Amino acid sequence: MIDIKALLDFDTRHIWHPYTSMKDPLPVYPVKEAKGVWLYLYDGKRLIDGMASWWAVIHGYNHPVLNQAICKQVERMSHVMFGGITHEPAVSLARRLLEITPRPLDRIFFADSGSVSVEVALKMAIQYWTSKGKGEKKRFLTVLKGYHGDTFGAMSVCDPINGMHELFTHVLPQHLFAPEPPPLSAGDFKEEHIEPLREIAERHRHEIAAVIIEPVVQGAGGMRFYSPAYLKRLRELCDSYDLLLIFDEIATGFGRTGELFASYLAGVSPDIMCVGKALTGGYMTFGATLTTEEVALTISEGKPGVFMHGPTFMGNPLACAVSLASIQLLFSYDWKGKVKKMEEIMRRELSKCADVKGVNEVRVLGSIGVVEMMDVVDVAQIQKMFVEKGVWIRPFGKLIYIMPPYVIEEDELVTLCNAIFDIVRSISAEKY
Ligand SMILES: *Cc1c(COP(=O)(O)O)cnc(C)c1O
Repeated sequence: MIDIKALLDFDTRHIWHPYTSMKDPLPVYPVKEAKGVWLYLYDGKRLIDGMASWWAVIHGYNHPVLNQAICKQVERMSHVMFGGITHEPAVSLARRLLEITPRPLDRIFFADSGSVSVEVALKMAIQYWTSKGKGEKKRFLTVLKGYHGDTFGAMSVCDPINGMHELFTHVLPQHLFAPEPPPLSAGDFKEEHIEPLREIAERHRHEIAAVIIEPVVQGAGGMRFYSPAYLKRLRELCDSYDLLLIFDEIATGFGRTGELFASYLAGVSPDIMCVGKALTGGYMTFGATLTTEEVALTISEGKPGVFMHGPTFMGNPLACAVSLASIQLLFSYDWKGKVKKMEEIMRRELSKCADVKGVNEVRVLGSIGVVEMMDVVDVAQIQKMFVEKGVWIRPFGKLIYIMPPYVIEEDELVTLCNAIFDIVRSISAEKY
């Protein structure tokens, strides 16, 4: 028998959780196991997971197909160095990823997490221009409200004020920030929406290596949706000012927006693209940075003739095997129809929240549902209320949002939405 109290006590005293205090930590819920959309707690309670463990677990937990892929690979080899060695899982995954991502992407670097794939993307852009004899092109242009990860390079292109990294702004390289794209609710794209960015791009083109942006959905920086037409124009601007374009599809990749990748919503291809999160079906940490032949060859033709990155666990065979199985699983059923259905259900069910006092906006795109409140919510209190209702939803800031696994059934999704409606009403009754 596991002593849950002792386990939680030790956790509270010694273990850091994401963005938490060691002095006054928020409560954590011990999960014993998980299956499909369900998280099972030690006290016998089970919760419908609305978060897919932060976008990642698209097929649900403990999926027999993914389990089998990873078990088979464990029996062959769990890991082998990627320096001077290759293996079938890496090659098969690369082949498949290059087939399903936008066409000009033709070369791939396997990274060990989303943040690292962003670091790799930034380094690729800098090495590209250095190889071309334009070492002065070493800054990045991005938009406010973005999120690209927690490592130093990634932090430097996150929202500098609203972001999670304000504390580090003074030690980060100073990059360029344009206003965030207007929300989808602002109506059709107009040139004036991108004019501030265009102006910065033109003025600083000599020192900008690339524009980095999350296509269509800005995730952890505010759960915002913007017009795909913005990206079409952004691609033109990058071409005319000689800037590379980096799409961070770590959150949006693998169907979340209703298209396989958000770049397909816009019909636009980047020069460099990052994937992570749902890449492994949420089984383990992994990421990849894809680029074009032109970028890859240019880097390789310059000094020192190689791309300067190579993590210890690069191309981990377990991660490659489970990623390939996850992609095959996604293509084995009508995932697009499923995401569309989830979108319809969330639109119908969450729209009830829009009339509640204290709610600023309700928005749904693909399998992402967001209720934005007027004020910051009390995470610990609300989390507890959600758990009591049998759902796992973790709000942050003013945002109560869900992006469940695609295997969720209609009644389960309705339960999630109803839980949000109930909680929003009770916050409203208390505060407004
Ligand atoms: C989560 C996320 C990252 C960082 O990925 P990690 O695996 O947490 O390092 C980067 N960019 C976007 C858009 C993300 O959503």
